[in-house]
Amino acid sequence: MAQWPFPWYIAESLEVLRRQLNALAPDRSTASDGGIGDSAHQGRASEHNPNNYRRWDGARQVCARDFTHDLGGGLDCNWLAAALIASGDNRIRYIIWWDRIWTPGVGWKPYEGENDHRKHLHLSVKAGAIGDLAAAWHLGPAGSDQEDELTPDEKLMLKRIYGQLTGTEDVKAGFPGFPSKKYPHIKLTAVDFLRASNKDAIDFKQEHDSRFAAVEKAQAELAAKLDRVLAALAVKA
Ligand SMILES: [Zn+2]
Repeated sequence: MAQWPFPWYIAESLEVLRRQLNALAPDRSTASDGGIGDSAHQGRASEHNPNNYRRWDGARQVCARDFTHDLGGGLDCNWLAAALIASGDNRIRYIIWWDRIWTPGVGWKPYEGENDHRKHLHLSVKAGAIGDLAAAWHLGPAGSDQEDELTPDEKLMLKRIYGQLTGTEDVKAGFPGFPSKKYPHIKLTAVDFLRASNKDAIDFKQEHDSRFAAVEKAQAELAAKLDRVLAALAVKA
């Protein structure tokens, strides 16, 4: 822990987030967690160094924290970055994760700093009183798997569509699919449905191509007739 010649503290909003993440993932690694700047940070401008804001007891505020990426321990920083962004929380100043930096109103940009931030996510909150707001962060369901929000029927459908698209599963019967136009008793799979639609479109085009060709031919014949009539009139005039 760095030695500073004055008292400091981590902005309360970051402490709130740390406690929330600890509650979500009690066994998460904290190997790359960090708040106050180490001796390497002290020599340069860093959000991990205390800023000039002082709280009631005179301690100076640090408005950045690092959170360790630990899939096995239940903290996926991909999820954390997405959840923080989705929260729209106006305490966020910027996020650095996976060699990119996200700023509200700007979005993701490549990160040019030394550390590529693939072992931890860096969150900076706004300096001052706003950084000390202790409201809970709205992170949504932790590490939620979209599949869990599907009904068993929808899961089966998804599995079978995936199977058909990848050719790993041939599903013809019992599929909760689309009725065939020609054979209403047959339920088409999503892939069959797309193939049939494509075939319908091709048939439609071929049928109408021949009609267009007939119209064009008739028009050409009329035009030729008209030319002959005009030529005959010109001779007489
Ligand atoms: Zn950091």
